[in-house]
Amino acid sequence: VEKDIRRILVKVCQKTYERHLVVGPGGNISAKIEGQDRILISPTGVSLVQLKGNDFVTVDLNGKTISGNARPSSELGAHLTIYRHWPQYRFVLHTHPPTITGLFCCKNFSLSDFILTEDIPYYLKHLSVIEYIPSGTTELAKAIATKVKTANAFILKNHGLMVAGRSASEALYLSELLEECAKMYVSARIYGPFSGIPERKVLALTKEVGIEKYDDSRL
Ligand SMILES: [Zn+2]
Repeated sequence: VEKDIRRILVKVCQKTYERHLVVGPGGNISAKIEGQDRILISPTGVSLVQLKGNDFVTVDLNGKTISGNARPSSELGAHLTIYRHWPQYRFVLHTHPPTITGLFCCKNFSLSDFILTEDIPYYLKHLSVIEYIPSGTTELAKAIATKVKTANAFILKNHGLMVAGRSASEALYLSELLEECAKMYVSARIYGPFSGIPERKVLALTKEVGIEKYDDSRL
């Protein structure tokens, strides 16, 4: 099973890079190994697109390295915070998508501004915005811990996204979805006054069960 998870991680890293969600050594990813209280996480300082299955570091839920030849990602603390709170989430993906990251640097821009289609309220129920905190710090992990009870996806201001999924495909999809919606917002702004989905419809969609089966075997 662990071998399969390593294979899935490599696939998602490649797609994350191909789809312009990260460049260079940016971003990181982890996966929980079922029934073992351990996770696999990408090493620090290496481009995701260059990773091979054996490069992922095995770490326990207290952050202690169990095996691996490299140092785990500096965002390990944030990943562990999410796994400790959400047993159903098995993958955490951190990326730097340019459009949504740029939008949330803008003063007076808020989450509700860019819900132009049904997908975000339907598929992404728990989204939270974290004010700027330097990357890789315990302060950032603590800030995520304060919001983790109500969110499994985080916009990290002046930095990027951190998204948890029940599968790797779901974590990847939700990251792409947020970037897609940000692009829609930008194109709507270019052409002038625009309207989003009425607030009560957004609320209704939030209450619908937007659970899709994301099959990692198809990655
Ligand atoms: Zn980052």
